[in-house]
Formats: sequence, structure tokens, C-alpha cells
Amino acid sequence: MVLERKYALGYSLFIIFITIVMGFPYFHNPIAFDSLTQFYISTILYTLILFYFQKLVAVYIQSDILRKNAYYDALTDIGNKRSIDSWLESEIKRCNETNSVFSIIYFDIDYFKKINDTFGHHIGDSVLIEFSSLIKNHIRPSDFFGRWGGEEFIIILTNQFLTEVTQFAENLRKIIEDHTFQFVGKVTASFGVSCLQPNDVPKTLIKRADQALYIAKNHGRNMVKAN
Ligand code: GH3
Ligand code: MG
Ligand code: MG
Repeated sequence: MVLERKYALGYSLFIIFITIVMGFPYFHNPIAFDSLTQFYISTILYTLILFYFQKLVAVYIQSDILRKNAYYDALTDIGNKRSIDSWLESEIKRCNETNSVFSIIYFDIDYFKKINDTFGHHIGDSVLIEFSSLIKNHIRPSDFFGRWGGEEFIIILTNQFLTEVTQFAENLRKIIEDHTFQFVGKVTASFGVSCLQPNDVPKTLIKRADQALYIAKNHGRNMVKAN
């Protein structure tokens, strides 16, 4: 039986109290008194140590959950905007130090508002979850994937140039197009791709990808554009 921590402490102290009462008839014997006292003190100490250790573990688990919530999107369980910002900062730093590059794919589900309007917000949420897990299953473990906001996502691909990443985004576009989503059927997305350039900061890199995405949207959606 698992008791709530404070009850468990009370219960343990109560049991110790009973053992004290049971030992009471032997207290007149100095040897027994000495042994029993040692036994009582050590049992009380172990109980208190265990109580505070459990408390420490609970605090640690709680702070771990809070830390995870701060960096993960609650709906899709992928990185959130804060994660993406921090991944970009550290990738740019790494590339400047090692003279390497990386690219990003910025993509947005087409006509998502219509999905919400037709099927309801709840189904819209399920599309976002299914969409994220579809993408997650088709990227490398070393790639960073996060939700930038709403129905917009970003993938950071380490050590990848623009041509390779444009092709990779094209594959993803096709995978989404070919997939049949639960409840809503077909869904498409538009993609903007950009590669790290000298003096880039996260904002400038995302801005280029956003401009490419804007062109993809304006040219009819369900396509990849690079910038
Ligand atoms: P476009 O093809 O130009 O991207 O059109 P769109 O309809 O996808 O884009 P728009 O920006 O007009 O609409 C995005 C919608 O996404 C509006 C907003 O209510 C919805 N949305 C944002 N976040 C969530 C969410 O977490 N869940 C659901 N269900 N909808 C969301
Ligand atoms: Mg959209
Ligand atoms: Mg959008």
C-alpha cells in the first residue's frame, strides 16, 4: 500500500511508538535499555531521512516537469518557440566556431483555418498532433523539430546545404500530401527553406525562410521555395 508522504511518516512514528511501549517492561535492565535506545534512535533517524529524501525526489520531479513544460509544446510534444530560439543560437555559435553550416525548413499547414471551421477546433488539434508525429517519423534523430506557433513548424538540419535541404523539404511535402489524416483526409503544407549565411542571427535566418514560405503560399501552396 502506498501512503501519502505525511501519513506514511505519522504511521511509521506510530509503529515506533508501539515498539517503545512494548519495550517498556525491559527498560529496568541497563543492557536492554541501551540496545533498545539505540534501536529507537536509529529507526527514528532512518524514518526521517527517508521522509526528507522522498521530499527531495518529489521536488526534483516537479522541477523537471516545469522545465519540460517551458521548452516543449504541450499539444504536440515537440520543441516550442523557446526551444527553437535556443537551438538556433547554439547552432549558429557551433557553425561559427567550426566553420560549418546548417539550414532550416519553415513550414505552414495550408488552409488550416478551414479545417477548424469545417471540423471544429478539437479535430484541428488532432491534425496538428498527427502532422507533428508524421514529420517526426521522417527526420534524422540529429535534426531539431519544433512548433513555431499555431500551424507553423521549423526543422533545423545540421550540416546541410540549401540544395540538399530543399530536396529534403520536397520529400516531406510529398509525404504529407500522400498521407490520409484521420477525420479530415488530405492536408497539404507549404515550405520555405534557408541556409546559414555569414553574420546571420536567428531572426535573419528565419526571415529568409519566411519570405520563401510567403512565395510558396502566393504561388498556390503545397510547394517548397528556397531563399
Ligand atoms: P494559409 O494556407 O495561408 O496558411 O491559411 P491558414 O488558414 O492555414 O492560415 P491562417 O493564419 O488564416 O489560420 C491559421 C489558423 O490556425 C487560425 C487559428 O485559429 C488556427 N490555430 C492556431 N493554433 C491552433 C491550435 O493550437 N489548434 C487549432 N485547432 N487551431 C489553431
Ligand atoms: Mg496555414
Ligand atoms: Mg500560419
